[in-house]
Amino acid sequence: MADAPSDPLTRLVHHLSRLPGIGSRSATRLAYHIVRDGSIASDLAEALVLVDEQVGRCSLCCDISASDPCKLCLDPRRDSSLICVVERTQDLRALERTGEFRGRYHVLEGALSPLDGIGPEELRISELLARIENDVEEVILATNATVSGDATALYLSRLLKPLGLKVSRIARGVSVGAELEYTDSSTLLRALEERREI
Ligand code: ZN
Repeated sequence: MADAPSDPLTRLVHHLSRLPGIGSRSATRLAYHIVRDGSIASDLAEALVLVDEQVGRCSLCCDISASDPCKLCLDPRRDSSLICVVERTQDLRALERTGEFRGRYHVLEGALSPLDGIGPEELRISELLARIENDVEEVILATNATVSGDATALYLSRLLKPLGLKVSRIARGVSVGAELEYTDSSTLLRALEERREI
């Protein structure tokens, strides 16, 4: 960042406030806390460097992973004919917590939102299409039950159905406006089981 302030504390506040959900007031509070407790700064710095160096993205499913391909993509017990498409890594983790889904995943890294400048090019759609070969039979669209999640599901279904695939959407067991990440496992499992072809 070329315009990062040179004063160390101001610089820390500047970078913390770049995180989602952290305004300048929260960033300042966190920065003071880090300064007051000397052990946090070095632990945090070390953890950040390790994440930066060792954690990347799986080139197949686009999930955050320390290895490429990730463990899930390499697991031979997983059903390659079934791909569950989610918006974010957190959604994948939520579905994994149900312990029932045995297919594979694809992480889009967001949802279509024209007002925020997020179009198909900003999502991992070309990576998804590159996987739709060979043995994929069904794609489950498990984007959030929000306006942008629904728009993304509709867009993907129009893209995928002409390829001769079964395309399904998770059921509305997930309440309208809800994000998968915050939905309990039993509700998620039901939504997955009651998915409908679209
Ligand atoms: Zn993967």
